[in-house]
Amino acid sequence: MQMNHDYKKLQFIIHRGSHQIGGNCVEVATPNTRIVIDCGLPLDYDDQDSDIQEKIHEDAKGWLDHCDAVFLSHYHGDHYGLLSDAPKGTKVYTSKETAELMKVSGIFGEDLAEHLDIQVMDGIVAVKDFRVTSYPVDHSAYGACAFLLEVADKSILYSGDIRLHGKKGVLYKNLPQNVDYLFLEGTNIGRGAKQRTETDMENEFIKQFDETPDSVHLVWCSSQNIDRIVALYRACKRTGRALCVDPYAAYVLELAHKAHITIPTAKTHANLLIFYPHRLTSKMMEKDPELIFGPYVKKRKLDVKLLQSHPGKYVMLFRPSLLYYAKTYLNEVKVCLTNSIWAQYWEQDKPDINHMKEWLKEKPELRKKLSDIHTSGHANVPSLQTIAEHVQPKHIVPIHSDHSDSFSSLFPTISVMEVMDEVQYSMTAPAIWRSTKSFEDLEIGFYLTDVSPDLSGVPATMFVAFRNPGFSPRILLSTDGRADDVYKGKTVSVSLDKVPTVIEGDESLIPDKVIEKAKNWVAVNYNLLMDNWNYKLDSREFLNNIKKV
Ligand SMILES: [Zn+2]
Repeated sequence: MQMNHDYKKLQFIIHRGSHQIGGNCVEVATPNTRIVIDCGLPLDYDDQDSDIQEKIHEDAKGWLDHCDAVFLSHYHGDHYGLLSDAPKGTKVYTSKETAELMKVSGIFGEDLAEHLDIQVMDGIVAVKDFRVTSYPVDHSAYGACAFLLEVADKSILYSGDIRLHGKKGVLYKNLPQNVDYLFLEGTNIGRGAKQRTETDMENEFIKQFDETPDSVHLVWCSSQNIDRIVALYRACKRTGRALCVDPYAAYVLELAHKAHITIPTAKTHANLLIFYPHRLTSKMMEKDPELIFGPYVKKRKLDVKLLQSHPGKYVMLFRPSLLYYAKTYLNEVKVCLTNSIWAQYWEQDKPDINHMKEWLKEKPELRKKLSDIHTSGHANVPSLQTIAEHVQPKHIVPIHSDHSDSFSSLFPTISVMEVMDEVQYSMTAPAIWRSTKSFEDLEIGFYLTDVSPDLSGVPATMFVAFRNPGFSPRILLSTDGRADDVYKGKTVSVSLDKVPTVIEGDESLIPDKVIEKAKNWVAVNYNLLMDNWNYKLDSREFLNNIKKV
């Protein structure tokens, strides 16, 4: 049987992230080229048993094996955390800022910069069939970017993590328009996130520092949230305080400074000081001895006695692992504690966090003063709609969201694909529903190709054949997920009947549960299928009436 369409087998698979925040891994492939975008650690990785953790790494090894290149959107663990599972020397393309930050990986784990072949993206990169362009976007990770993948006549834009309310929010206006597919993150869907800006953060820090002139402020903030640290640094400067960071944060700032010289460092900026917690200092000794022994350190080392006598002159970049330092040196000093991180971190059942909670129990005065100065690294719903309005994609593919099912109501004028992890979706067929009578009346029917799992609950490509001289109406079923493979022998035909049966093909090629689901689907949609076999109905109307199983 001949197919009469220009099928080029461009496809994508979301390995993880279609229905969860974090752990993103997307593969886009042609028969000739495999590209992986991000390969993140699931956010609940630490809570999993060791056998599940092992499987997470095994899966990642499978996804990353033999890929032609990985594109890394930003340096957050839920996007890069499994890159160490890539074969040594795997090419990883990313922004210059991310490439710099990747150098910190060797401090607490494997050095990714040594393990991988990291390539700084400068303009467009060609990887076999694909042309890939990076677009800087605003996010709480330094140097975050979106990627445009172009192949043949198709274009795919992967947003990465993105927001509009940071200092560089306006960057979304540079994103390409009229793409075929927009993979859009939806972290804040269902969260009603506030959209205070980073400038608001700076002003709130100033207000708080002014209100408590005799207290040292401990600000819990990620050492890699460079925009926030810059806001904090500016607030310190404007209130006559010094910002104190540990050698790890000092090192991160040095790396960020290499990408953009405006980023403050202890070496270059007078009111940035370093304090030296024992354990961390010995860890940093090898990585960057200058931070500990460099000639400038004399001037920039925090004088603990001065801190104790004039606490109101200092702000410390803090995190729970530094608690022992606070307990040792700040016990007799007035302290304020500020969260400048996602509030959910407090809910984690980790030793560091539990120690913090115990400490707060002992310090009722500090508990009272605990405040939040934080804004999300992710766009809220109106911002996501603004992005979609700008990009005007043909299809939106939800990703990085606990509420992927809400996308279709939030973007009513755009086709939203209902996707699942680990299913192959073809991008050469129309995304939702294709009808054909391309065989000169030999066959009339519908493809349920790209989204067949979501239409039917059946994880397989289906072709509904209604009329074909020589055989009865049937569903052709292929687990391969690609319409043309229906005709390559890996196919089972299920009768269009009230009690469907397998009427042709090798059942062992298709998992039993897929066949069972297909049969159920045929049974519950029997009347609809029979009423429409003559191909007169508009396919969308048909689609709306389909019952899932
Ligand atoms: Zn992120």
